[in-house]
Amino acid sequence: MEKPDWAAPLAEAYERSLAYLTTLPDRPVGSATDRLDLRAALGGPLPEAPQDAREVVARLAAAAEPGLVSTQSGRFFGFVIGGANPAALAADWLTTTWDQNACLSALAPAASVVEEVTGAWLVQLLGLPAHASTGFVTGGQMANFTALAAARHEMLRREGWDVEADGLAGAPRLRVLAGRHRHNTIDRAAGFLGLGRAAITSVDTDDQGRMIPDALSDALAESDRPTIVCTQAGGVNTGAFDPVGDICAVAHEAGAWVHVDGAFGLWAAASPRLRHLTAGVERADSWATDGHKWLNVPYDSGLVFCAHPRAHRAAMGTRADYLIHGGEGERDALDYTPEFSRRARGFPVYAAIGALGRAGVAELVERCCALAGSFAEQLAAHDGVEILNDVVLNQVLVRFLAADGDHDGHTRAVVERVQRDGTCWMSGTTWNGRAAMRISVSNWSTDQDDVDRSVAAILRCARPDAEG
Ligand SMILES: *Cc1c(COP(=O)(O)O)cnc(C)c1O
Repeated sequence: MEKPDWAAPLAEAYERSLAYLTTLPDRPVGSATDRLDLRAALGGPLPEAPQDAREVVARLAAAAEPGLVSTQSGRFFGFVIGGANPAALAADWLTTTWDQNACLSALAPAASVVEEVTGAWLVQLLGLPAHASTGFVTGGQMANFTALAAARHEMLRREGWDVEADGLAGAPRLRVLAGRHRHNTIDRAAGFLGLGRAAITSVDTDDQGRMIPDALSDALAESDRPTIVCTQAGGVNTGAFDPVGDICAVAHEAGAWVHVDGAFGLWAAASPRLRHLTAGVERADSWATDGHKWLNVPYDSGLVFCAHPRAHRAAMGTRADYLIHGGEGERDALDYTPEFSRRARGFPVYAAIGALGRAGVAELVERCCALAGSFAEQLAAHDGVEILNDVVLNQVLVRFLAADGDHDGHTRAVVERVQRDGTCWMSGTTWNGRAAMRISVSNWSTDQDDVDRSVAAILRCARPDAEG
């Protein structure tokens, strides 16, 4: 066997990466190509013969690049998508290089300890109870899934039922209560867990999408079935927070489990100025958030926390004769996540927190919110532009009024024009039955100039004489 040439393919990847990252500010933010071109560039017959590694990497990069959406750009405001902070990105490369299988402490001691340390840091940053357990999963979806699996375990255990052993057939029926404006990953998780999407009862929300505690009270009183309440810290449209503390008080009184979906909003707890939005969050039973959103860790990075570590482990843990399970005080990641073999996701999270520090995370969150405020203020100053939400966080909903009264049609057209224009990228939504442009500021590199240039582009695209 020839000595492997690591240097050539890695050098190619490094050079391409640097070229990509350093030219981000000048690239059109949306993808400029179509599927046919991409298929032509990337397609072809199954390669039969081996090819040079460097050439394969070079060809892949050249062919894929036109089909990339510059979500890493400081002017990408679509969905809620962070960029990758340089330290986290570099640590993610190392994670790939080391190629650790993080499922067992015996197999990946450094990964296990880094998750232990990072978990303790996160719990402090986010204001959660010190004893909470942590799982490093792929995203908010799996964080919600894992937390609800722990909830399912615990609520049925209290009824004398072992759901991991005996399944759901014949079990007491669980009920899930969640705000009308919950994220759809809650519904998917309920489906995956066999609770059923239809087991979710929607609780009324106010004009910003926040769950109304009195409505929750009424819903809780309707049945004494074991209940899981799913609340939200940061809604994807308005960024609004359910009053988590009040919800915990009402729900715990009724014996329910409270889960907080804080995929991006939970990071407000890291800021002394914004922490009030999450007041009472430490009283919940489980939490989901993302590293790949506001912490700006590369994909994929989700985080789940549970105030009942035993329930968390009971729902996820497994034992097998051929595995080497950690002893007392050793952390086997597979006891906290649905995956078995998996990437050592703690490394990039560790690096992101290390590079930013507590002060840097707070500053990042506050700056994004201030820039969202700047978007709202500049846009609202123009006739025919309306802001639909109270801008309490990093989300802004914008509506463009049309002379002919077709505000929905005009708003959607403006969103499409902005996407084609390339200066910035944001998506559309429908809020309370009205079309809106949805701006999310969640990238570490976004600055005032990015916002000003984007506002100018948006206003250009909103003019009645704008093209297309
Ligand atoms: C993004 C998001 C999710 C889903 O998270 P993924 O990381 O995409 O799986 C869930 N809930 C809320 C509120 C979100 O914003």
